[in-house]
Amino acid sequence: MDIPRIFTITESAHRIHNPFTPANLATLGAALRLEPGARILDLGSGSGEMLCTWALKYGITGVGIDMSTLFTDQAKLRAEELGVADRVRFIHGDAAGYVAEEKVDVAACLGATWIGGGVAGTVELLEKSLRPGGIILIGEPYWLKVPPTEDVARGCEANAISDFLLLPELLASFGNLNYDVVEMVLADREGWDRYEAAKWLTMRRWLDANPNDDFANEVRATLTLGPTRYAAYTREYVGWGVFALMAR
Ligand code: SAH
Repeated sequence: MDIPRIFTITESAHRIHNPFTPANLATLGAALRLEPGARILDLGSGSGEMLCTWALKYGITGVGIDMSTLFTDQAKLRAEELGVADRVRFIHGDAAGYVAEEKVDVAACLGATWIGGGVAGTVELLEKSLRPGGIILIGEPYWLKVPPTEDVARGCEANAISDFLLLPELLASFGNLNYDVVEMVLADREGWDRYEAAKWLTMRRWLDANPNDDFANEVRATLTLGPTRYAAYTREYVGWGVFALMAR
């Protein structure tokens, strides 16, 4: 069981697999006013940067589940590197349907809401692991401005304009699920550039090291088009943020 190989090639050097910078992640942790010992569940935990750095900075404990073998291994190494391996646990597996044994204070899914079949389904899934009065974190893209055509939406790596909402609509959608939005931290262009541009050097080095790999043509095409495509589409049209929710 694993995720498509293109991601583990392009994002092998990323610690954070979304447009958040380390500073954004720290801001979010501080904004949540986490108590030492707070329990966090993270579905699609990637390379574990959120749980590991929050364990170090804020004394939380946590469990992360991720379908990528590479990212899960990286998360375990990061926990050891930061000296928090006794506080965070990373499980390789499919997070769809995953419910924590013991209820958590914070249940998160950052940049992987397909796990629950979309935002509404993921909120419903996370709710099953959450203690009463706990906080749900959803990391999700939104349109900075609506793309003029479906082609532009596809240039932004969406399937359709209808995939994302404008920020006010996304915030209202949480209200429609009967949740208060109690905090949010939004990525900025600097964070987007770190997320996207870091893939280019990773891809270039991978191509230099693996010229005869079956995947080389696909990676070559992605690198050749990547910078201009990103500047023309995602950088102009797509926002990303993490939204903290509490049931009304
Ligand atoms: N939350 C992390 C990773 C976001 S990228 C971060 O912000 O850094 C999306 C992640 O979801 C990837 O790590 C991918 O391996 C994982 N993923 C995709 N499908 C999954 C599934 N069904 N179950 C668990 N993890 C999944």
